[in-house]
Order: sequence, then structure tokens, then C-alpha cells
Amino acid sequence: MKRMPRLCSICIHEQRLPIEKAMIAGASLRDVAGLYGTCKSNLDRHRPHITRALSKHAEVQELARTTTLLQDVRRGEARAERLYAQTEAILAGAVASDDPRVALLAVRAVVAVMAEARSFMSLRGEITNELGRDRTAPTISVQIIAPQTFNELPRVSFWQEDACEAGYEEIGLIQR
Ligand SMILES: [Zn+2]
Repeated sequence: MKRMPRLCSICIHEQRLPIEKAMIAGASLRDVAGLYGTCKSNLDRHRPHITRALSKHAEVQELARTTTLLQDVRRGEARAERLYAQTEAILAGAVASDDPRVALLAVRAVVAVMAEARSFMSLRGEITNELGRDRTAPTISVQIIAPQTFNELPRVSFWQEDACEAGYEEIGLIQR
């Protein structure tokens, strides 16, 4: 951004707001200058300061909006994480009590939770990109490892450490 060569007389003008309103309303600079006891060149010099203030205001509003959205997304992610932990516990219990039917249900539930988490993650990725940070989001992989034999139950590995806070780009669903 361009530095000011010297202090702008309009920025510190007592009537700054009405001056700016008149300028934005499209009044001629000569008229505004006459009305507020200044000169055209002062108003001209001040013009970019109005633009800057307005765009700053828009940025702040945009930040507030995206921050609210991010909070919603984080809540959604946290919920998906809790659901996942619960489903994982059910899966572990089913494995311990040798109940393949419940284990299969748990795996299906895990897949559903992962789909939900994925949508939150891609949303978060879009929002953080919009905010201009976390452009190099780490990827997270979800693996469902199918058993080699009939007696084994599938294993699921989910969240990668350090990926949770930095944001994710996508989930690769790998089956082998
Ligand atoms: Zn100014």
C-alpha cells in the first residue's frame, strides 16, 4: 500500500464524515471544497483513504463471517470425531465378543461418520483458503483394511496426528 507523503487534511478534518458522504454521493469536488473550506486537491488526495477504509470494513465483515462458519465446521468435526470414537469402541467390543454382525454394522457406521467428517473437512479447507492461510493443508488418509481370512474383522485407521488442527484437503478411502 502506498505511504502517505504527508498528513491528509481531510482525514483529520472536523467535518470528515459529511465531506466523505458528499464525495460518495457524487457531489463535485469543487462544490464540496467550497462548502467545507478546503481545496479540490485535498479532496483528491483523500479519495483513496475512503476506498481503503471501505475495503478494510469489508475485510473485517468477511473475517467475521468466515470465523463464524469455521466455528460451525469445527463443531461438526468434533461431533464426527466423538461419533467415530464411539463407533470404534463398539467395533472393539464386537471383536472382543466375537460378534461379526455387530462389527459389520460398526464398520458401516464408521464409513458414514467418515463421509460426514469429509464434508466438514472440505468445507473447512475452502474457508481457510478463503482466509488465505493453511494453503498447504496436510492430507488425511482413512484406511479400512479388509481381513485376510474369514475369521478376522476389518481394521480401520482414521485421524492422522497433527492433521486435525491444520485442516484437511481430502480423505483417501483406501481398501485393500
Ligand atoms: Zn485522508
